[in-house]
Amino acid sequence: MYIRVSEIPGGGLDLFASRGKASIPRVLEGMDPAPLRKLRLVDADLLLTVEGGDLWIEGSFEAQGEGLCDRCSDPVTLRLGKAFQTILTPKSRDRAPAGSVELHEEDLDVGYYDGTGVETNDILWEQVALELPMRVVCSEACRGICPVCGKNRNLEACSCVAGGAPGPFEILKNLKGKKE
Ligand SMILES: [Zn+2]
Ligand SMILES: [Zn+2]
Repeated sequence: MYIRVSEIPGGGLDLFASRGKASIPRVLEGMDPAPLRKLRLVDADLLLTVEGGDLWIEGSFEAQGEGLCDRCSDPVTLRLGKAFQTILTPKSRDRAPAGSVELHEEDLDVGYYDGTGVETNDILWEQVALELPMRVVCSEACRGICPVCGKNRNLEACSCVAGGAPGPFEILKNLKGKKE
């Protein structure tokens, strides 16, 4: 949803309260949630306030994602969510504004906008992207697939010797062998 600064009333704009929550499941449409395969926004809040040309954004989101475990390939569902505060300053301004910003610098994200308006989907997506895991695992204790026999080691212990997988030197040896 594109929101012009001129549309935001003095008391602020509570986006989903005023425009309806029906659009929430579509906010992340068309965005790549890698390393997850699917990600759906379950709930979101976004309060926009203008103060001296700066745009203050306070919000939160809750999302549900699906992926495959990096180690054993089992499907994993996970929930992401957080509350955030961001302040956007018009790009044309050279200097960081207002003392109030400096005071809150530590717990605020500070960014820029073009001075006219913002795409609220982008704002939410940026926050969601920060919460995406680096990799998906079904559990930190997941023992994964045995590289030797291919068994899921969470379900079945195998007797393969640890380190039985070909090491870099063996691979190199094999490559050389193939050349000759
Ligand atoms: Zn796993
Ligand atoms: Zn094995």
